[in-house]
Amino acid sequence: MKRNLMLAFIAGIATTVALLAAAVLATAPQEAEAAVWPTEIATDVEAFFAGGPNMSDRDVYYPGTEKLGPDEMRVIACGTGMPNQRPKQAAACWLVELGNGEKFLFDIGTGSSERISALRIPYDSLDKVFIGHLHSDHFGDLDALWIGGVVAGRINKLRVWGPDAPREEWSTAYALDLLQKMYQWDLATRSGVIDGRGLEMEVNQFDRLGINAIIYDVNGVVIRTVPAIHGTDGPVSFILEWNGLKFAFSSDTYPNKWWIEHTQDADISIHECFLPPNILVERFGFAPIEALQVGTQGHTAPAQFAKVMALTEPRLAVGYHFFNDFDTAPEILRQIRMVYEGPLALAEDYMVFNVTKDDIRVRMAVVEEAAWPPGAIQEKQPPDFTKSVPPSDFLRSGAEPFPEIVQKYYDAINRMYGTDYKPGY
Ligand SMILES: [Zn+2]
Ligand SMILES: [Zn+2]
Repeated sequence: MKRNLMLAFIAGIATTVALLAAAVLATAPQEAEAAVWPTEIATDVEAFFAGGPNMSDRDVYYPGTEKLGPDEMRVIACGTGMPNQRPKQAAACWLVELGNGEKFLFDIGTGSSERISALRIPYDSLDKVFIGHLHSDHFGDLDALWIGGVVAGRINKLRVWGPDAPREEWSTAYALDLLQKMYQWDLATRSGVIDGRGLEMEVNQFDRLGINAIIYDVNGVVIRTVPAIHGTDGPVSFILEWNGLKFAFSSDTYPNKWWIEHTQDADISIHECFLPPNILVERFGFAPIEALQVGTQGHTAPAQFAKVMALTEPRLAVGYHFFNDFDTAPEILRQIRMVYEGPLALAEDYMVFNVTKDDIRVRMAVVEEAAWPPGAIQEKQPPDFTKSVPPSDFLRSGAEPFPEIVQKYYDAINRMYGTDYKPGY
């Protein structure tokens, strides 16, 4: 009994102390808190488009929910990793969206098409791709965007730009001609079944040695290239300028004078920042000589990247092309900070940069794994049935048409859409 009384007494004291503490907290400087915490955060898209509180006050980017300002550029990392893709990072790919509605893809490395899909952008506005060089980690998903993009709603042709080469068989035109030849069965079997206009590919090859040479100049968007030093002759880096904003993307390159001269004062400067030799040895199993050659001679190591950024002074430096993890990022950052102290982002997939003349905002996109393509902006046409390639009599002789089932699908669709289609079998 005594013991219970004692416990009750102690509990009473504890309650009193807690209440006192709560009272102290309750009278804490609320005004100071109100000044620190944002008080207006939009909770829905309608509020944003109605001119309510700016949705960009959110900490994250939800694809498909934010209109770009007329003077705004949005850059999204769709691939920031290595030639061997992993769930966290696809290979090189960067999307640039402009306030005038235009969109440009720079490199389309393996695995990046999945990232592009997650951004919920109509595929017929994703029809321009610029390839810096022909390593698989920079154009390995071109086929996925080209053909998969048609299924997802691109009904206009895919337009691709890439460099020439000292040997014809190393050139963009040669590679993409063979790519299209490789997919002849695919193209033949889709052409007469769907609106196949998007299956056309336009290849624009330009001079790999152009120095700040214009390769695209349409609607106020100017894209230039400078030679990149990587592998052998062929690679280039890109500079896009629009509306007073300057975006630079190295693709892959060793530090070079052309980049340093022509990307001065870029608003956003994305340059490779490869895994340093020590990490290549320890984590990738490279031999020391491989690590040195690949990490510092074929590519740009973090401190070399830092030197380039110190010399060019962009508004924001972005390093990519490494596995960005809790145990690699600190070491890479340490090596960069020995040489460069300016604004910096270490890229990972789905990093989003909103660039205006006043501000550069960096967030991560929150993506929905079950995202579907949003559908084409333009209207679809019926397939060109003259291009259909029916199966042989032999295959047809083995078909089980189940007319009592399939006819019901046709009847339902014909009723709903006022059509008069008949099954092929
Ligand atoms: Zn490369
Ligand atoms: Zn690369």
